[in-house]
Amino acid sequence: MRYVEEFRDPAAARALLDRIAALANEIGATAAAPVHIMEICGGHTHAIFRYGLDKLIHPGVEFIHGPGCPVCVLPMSRVDECVELAERPEVIFTTFGDAMRVPGTRKSLIQAKAEGADIRMVYSPLDALELARRNPEREVVFFGLGFETTTPSTALSIQQAAREGLTNFTVFCNHITVPPPIRVLLEDPHMILDGFVGPGHVSMVIGTDPYRFIAEDFGKPIVVAGFEPLDLLQSVLMVLEQIRDGRAEVENQYARVVPEHGNPVSVAAIAEVYEPRPSFEWRGLGEIDESGLRIRDRYRAFDAEAKFGIGYGAGPRDVREPEGCACGQVMTGRIKPTGCPHFGTGCTPEMPLGALMVSSEGACAAYYQYGGARAAEPAA
Ligand code: SF4
Repeated sequence: MRYVEEFRDPAAARALLDRIAALANEIGATAAAPVHIMEICGGHTHAIFRYGLDKLIHPGVEFIHGPGCPVCVLPMSRVDECVELAERPEVIFTTFGDAMRVPGTRKSLIQAKAEGADIRMVYSPLDALELARRNPEREVVFFGLGFETTTPSTALSIQQAAREGLTNFTVFCNHITVPPPIRVLLEDPHMILDGFVGPGHVSMVIGTDPYRFIAEDFGKPIVVAGFEPLDLLQSVLMVLEQIRDGRAEVENQYARVVPEHGNPVSVAAIAEVYEPRPSFEWRGLGEIDESGLRIRDRYRAFDAEAKFGIGYGAGPRDVREPEGCACGQVMTGRIKPTGCPHFGTGCTPEMPLGALMVSSEGACAAYYQYGGARAAEPAA
């Protein structure tokens, strides 16, 4: 298939791996003293394990798996609120499929559905809008979840609902943004991060400018990358070249898809419908200032938190992670998934204990599915 096969070419991959190895040797990177490169996006984590890049690459390059899987960073308190919304008799709760099995304190959405809650999987918020049109006597709630990649479609559906005057459609907004948690990780003195592979899909929307602080404030290179194996290998090579040259810049390996300034239509829709929350809780990272979005007052009629009295306006919840769960440490790259005592025993894709085992973009699920990596020791 054109535009796919050429990015999976084995000979080209081998040539890139050889160039990475030569460069790693040139800068003195070894298994004992590796270069730590964080792939921010869960899609990249999945691709690294799917294609075995962690095993093929020079041992002086260590991948650190970042917090870029929206299902994985969703705190349990928000899952609990989803379940509470879904169990209301008047509600049809709509969600993408990957959120169905995320464990809450009491149950997951799929368990709530098995017990009778009206929960429906959809492929787009527009599907939820159509349900609202067809069921005027019910309240249709869409579970808005994800980074800047999915935020525009939710914003556009809210604008469409407003145009149509729908009164039974709301969004439970859990949209989050990529740059704030990266700043938190860079400010953490315990983290060792030498460079970043930047998220391709998010960058289609926001462009490359929002990452400039990584290079300018922290002196770290970042290369926005595509999702095929050659994309990732070329991006790692570009990061290593910056390190060798003593440069710290924002580079765009995925220029065939990512425009420098993003998608202005999507950016405008986000700005029209959402504003930053003062803070938002991330699983494993805690509360992070201005890292989450909420629906602006002018669209308050479509905000499930306002309509049903849940969420941040309803006060804090003290929700504890399952005992021994190491999701937070994996999420911040402190340990590999295999370092969690539950990995593969109490926590599997069939019976996940933590969110990182639920989504295919979660580091634990990727390790489990593709046989783990070469190291189980702490990465930092
Ligand atoms: S194995 Fe399960 S409990 Fe342990 S870190 Fe991974 S998802 Fe969390």
